[in-house]
Amino acid sequence: MKLDVMKLFATDNRTVELDYDEEVKVERADIKEAMGPAHVHLTVLGTDNGVIIKGTARQKLLVFCYRCLAPFEYDLLADIYEDISFSEGGDEEEGILSDDKKYIDLDEVLNAALYLSLPMRFECSENCVGLGITGEEHSDESDCHDVDPRLAVLKKYFEKD
Ligand SMILES: [Zn+2]
Repeated sequence: MKLDVMKLFATDNRTVELDYDEEVKVERADIKEAMGPAHVHLTVLGTDNGVIIKGTARQKLLVFCYRCLAPFEYDLLADIYEDISFSEGGDEEEGILSDDKKYIDLDEVLNAALYLSLPMRFECSENCVGLGITGEEHSDESDCHDVDPRLAVLKKYFEKD
């Protein structure tokens, strides 16, 4: 979505409230797909020499747990804060503010915020025991009865011997 800067400054208090859904691409090796559009809430405020954009975005993702590799739903919440100066126009604003300074590309703002909010890695639950193959979690001999059901078949096989 593009925001018309002239229209923003034409409003009474130079403020625009936006609530909208936007299809975005959030791509990483451990992200399977985005589930539906991102829900975006933004307040855009015109200042004496620029624009401040603040708000939140919420995006449901289907991701893979880094421990057990199982896919699960992850609710990505991003805080958005962007302070755009008309005078500086540095690298950071590149792509957000159009060259003629007439439009602000809110998609760029949204994408950057979502990527910044991604965790280093996804974990399906705090108690995720992982794949249970390395045996690290079950190194204690007394724990031997707690065999991963997927490995129970193997255990039976070895017990025959
Ligand atoms: Zn897991």
